[in-house]
Amino acid sequence: MVTGKINHTEILSVAEAGLSKTKQIYQDRTRRVKELKAEGKKVIGYLDIYPVLEMLTALDLVPYRILGDMREPITKADTCLPTVVCPFLRSVMDLGLKGKYNFLDGVVMAHGCEVSEKTAHIWRTYLNPSYAHFIDTPHTTHAAAQRQHKELLKDFKRTLESFTGKELSIEKLKEAIKIHNEQRALVRELYDLKKPDPPLISGVETLQVMVALASLPVAEGNELLRQVISEVKQRKDGPAKKPARLLVWGSIIDDIALIDMMESIGADVVMDDTVLGSRAYFSPVALTADPLDGLAHRYLVELKSPRTFRETVLSETKRKDYMTDLENRFGYLKDYAREWKVNGVILQALRYCDIHGYEVPGLKDYLASIGLPSIYLEHDYSEAALAQLRTRVQAFLEVIS
Ligand code: SF4
Repeated sequence: MVTGKINHTEILSVAEAGLSKTKQIYQDRTRRVKELKAEGKKVIGYLDIYPVLEMLTALDLVPYRILGDMREPITKADTCLPTVVCPFLRSVMDLGLKGKYNFLDGVVMAHGCEVSEKTAHIWRTYLNPSYAHFIDTPHTTHAAAQRQHKELLKDFKRTLESFTGKELSIEKLKEAIKIHNEQRALVRELYDLKKPDPPLISGVETLQVMVALASLPVAEGNELLRQVISEVKQRKDGPAKKPARLLVWGSIIDDIALIDMMESIGADVVMDDTVLGSRAYFSPVALTADPLDGLAHRYLVELKSPRTFRETVLSETKRKDYMTDLENRFGYLKDYAREWKVNGVILQALRYCDIHGYEVPGLKDYLASIGLPSIYLEHDYSEAALAQLRTRVQAFLEVIS
């Protein structure tokens, strides 16, 4: 993720709306939250897709997603994290230790993977924020796990109330759920604009929108999305038609470099299944009488991430076998491929990311079974890796185009 390398003169000369505003926020994502802080708002950083953002919004706290910076050399994180762990989290910790997240008033992190839990505890110990909370999100979707998750959200609510000195009422929480669901629906609408051939918005532009959303209060993000959708529908200079329509699956992508590389050599990235993309937005929260029920269910059961184990549900006549299990785990990707007319899948995982790495053999088998070609790329969250990846992606595009 690019931070701090901006030409302010150039930025100020561009009208602040729609895609140009998105690009500005992507290049300088702290600007808006720092303004909000100056107005007296409190900004809470969060990692991954498991912290329940609705609770922050309901208490007038500004959620701000903590991202890494693949362009910044890691020079400090090795003091507290081993070198053989996720390079994204090493980058996150490195930025934290360098004071790049000092503007945060607090943090909430959850169990996305083992190293993210470790990072949460190290962040609290080394950076000592005024507010720090960890949600130990369960690993299964069983009824007991769902009940436990609801209890964990009650704890989270209590600590937020104590931090803000305000009560988090049911009404406020319901309102916050509505506004976050509105964002989810708008993101769906944005992704629908990627279904035509050629798509109306590129993969690079889409990622810039997603990074911008992760940097703004939800209501401002919704306004930005409306502007982008309206602009994209009307513009005449969208992406060109290209022979490859790719779905990109896997570890977090928070910098446009990887997608830009793919789109510069003959592909349109029309769909993704990553935590800064569709995975974070495609599941709305059900409006339940006790809003914690809908939230606990959505953040544990509805979010489709390989970090959560799902039992294969079988009809009485069906026996459990490998392909049925794969269908249960990856069937939604077949739907994505059909709706977005995908003709190739890039499976990418950051080095040492077990959560995604372990999923690859089964996912490759599944994609082969439905006739979708795929390629697996492992990379180290650095610009240096791009040249080698480019050669491999180029060869893959020649095969599928
Ligand atoms: S990329 Fe993998 S290892 Fe890194 S934070 Fe995400 S799930 Fe964890």
